[in-house]
Amino acid sequence: MCEGEFTPHLKDQAALERRIEELTDFIENASVPLHWVDENGIIIWANQAELDTFGYSRDEYIGFPISDFHADQETIDDILNRLSKNEVLMNYRAKLKCKDGSIKHVLINSSVFRRDEKFVHTRCFTRDITLLAQEEERKGILLGELEKSEASLKEAIASREEKSARLAAIIESSDDAIVSKTLEGIVTSWNGSAERIFGYTEAEMIGQSILKIIPQDRLDEEVEILTKLGRGERVEHFETKRQTKQGNLIDLSLTISPIKDKNGRIIGVSKIARDITERKLEEQRKDAFVAMASHELKTPLTAITAYLQLMLVKSRRDMADFYINTLTRAEAQAKKMITMIQDFLSVARLEEGKIVISKQNFDLQPLISEIIDDASFLTTRHQICFKGPDHIHIYGDQEKISHVLMNLVNNAVKYSPNGGTITISVEPEADKVKISVSDEGVGIHPKDRRRLFERFYRVDNEKTQTAAGFGIGLYLASEILRYHDSKIELESQEGVGSTFWFYLPVYGDS
Ligand code: ADP
Repeated sequence: MCEGEFTPHLKDQAALERRIEELTDFIENASVPLHWVDENGIIIWANQAELDTFGYSRDEYIGFPISDFHADQETIDDILNRLSKNEVLMNYRAKLKCKDGSIKHVLINSSVFRRDEKFVHTRCFTRDITLLAQEEERKGILLGELEKSEASLKEAIASREEKSARLAAIIESSDDAIVSKTLEGIVTSWNGSAERIFGYTEAEMIGQSILKIIPQDRLDEEVEILTKLGRGERVEHFETKRQTKQGNLIDLSLTISPIKDKNGRIIGVSKIARDITERKLEEQRKDAFVAMASHELKTPLTAITAYLQLMLVKSRRDMADFYINTLTRAEAQAKKMITMIQDFLSVARLEEGKIVISKQNFDLQPLISEIIDDASFLTTRHQICFKGPDHIHIYGDQEKISHVLMNLVNNAVKYSPNGGTITISVEPEADKVKISVSDEGVGIHPKDRRRLFERFYRVDNEKTQTAAGFGIGLYLASEILRYHDSKIELESQEGVGSTFWFYLPVYGDS
């Protein structure tokens, strides 16, 4: 040991005692908690700092087993066991019980003081690290919470990824082409069916303009669609044509929806396109068949009508009333059949775009008289009357307008099974004329009104079931009027009757 200021020569007993007193004072008043434990784990000495730290009086602490003051039995067993093996403990973490019931976190440095190899007592230095431990605990909780929220974020991402993977699988396996694009028409996604239908690969289309598949004569459609979507509308089952990579035109049914961001702003467009080329071809084949069958049926029927007319002329000459009657009815029925066949032919022509409208100036009156005469042959239960000026000239296709009127009058007869009055009215209004047909028949329910003009649409109820028909008369009439820039309108009340009307332009002097 080196000699100096703090190591005086202990030459005499008095100096030694002074030294002991100084050292005792030093450790008694040291600010570090210190204690000694004997071989049996009993506290044999503790300084004031130790007592103050844990709140005990000397009597409550000294003489008691150290394990009474440890919060964790396993820890103190381990400490005593290690010390008995002469281990030196450095910064050993433990928890000690305070008198007020609280727990203090401490770091213990401890070793055994031996004399002649014999256990005298432990030298135990305790450091209160409760504040630090609490801080650590708080950090731990925080960290735990952070970990938890990170885990739930990861879970949310995983479930989102799973959802998008599932959606992607559905999109990929769909038979329909599913395509998305920006509002500027730049393709952003292109599924497998889009590749199959249009012939362009995903790599060839992503980042390219959708105009690549739109035929020149349909470029306006894009603008129209985007305007509709801009109003937040969805475009459903829109039938159109698109061009494949090979240059073929294909028929498609499109459903187009806006893609919105989280603020509801439209940022793109998604399109589902179904290839209906086969269906269209099938329809064309069916129309061609109907046209052909109608034509084949019309030829012999026209011949039969001619023979009937011949026989009628002869019967009239012979004044054979029975034959006149029978033949008149047979002729009316044959005419009715010819009209129906003509309707089928007209539908086929219309579908092929082969309908020809030749407009001219004609007097409506004689045409209406003829229609009334013809219709009167078919019914005895109805009075068919006319209201309007003697002559009125209109501008249109005479044969087709006659067809429209005939259809409306025939319907008025068919759908008034109890008879009543059927009125054909002609009312001039400035430069046009309103032509209407009204009946006192079964009437039409509001829900059916919108669909009456669709091809093959027939109202399905017990009142209309008995009337024969194919559901093409009003479709044809509305198409013919469309070619005249006009349309049919109607007013109807179930059980009271219906009125159908349309406008045509007057022409010259009427
Ligand atoms: P069809 O008479 O051959 O069934 P239309 O296209 O002429 O076909 O008419 C379509 C449907 O409209 C008819 O099935 C019928 O239910 C209804 N309808 C047409 N005219 C009248 C009318 N005057 N009164 C009541 N229902 C009518």
